[in-house]
Amino acid sequence: MKINNSLEHPRWYDIKCKCNHDNVETEYPISSCLHCKFQECQDSLPKKDFKSKITVYDKKGFPTGEIKTRTVKEITIIRGEKYQDIMGWFF
Ligand SMILES: [Zn+2]
Repeated sequence: MKINNSLEHPRWYDIKCKCNHDNVETEYPISSCLHCKFQECQDSLPKKDFKSKITVYDKKGFPTGEIKTRTVKEITIIRGEKYQDIMGWFF
């Protein structure tokens, strides 16, 4: 899996975790913690190639009913400007 727009050290890495993990009420997601929020987004990225189903359209743009499967080997991350956090990704 190739990941475009990956960063060695995005800005949010330096935001410290504010959670107190002794209690569920004082840790993310009940308690707000930017570090854990951004970590969660990063952990949700695919790490391996995966298969994706694609609808096949005819020349007029109508679905033919045929579904093709393709292997996604490359994704691109969309980052927030302020924290350089992962806002989403596409392939
Ligand atoms: Zn935290």
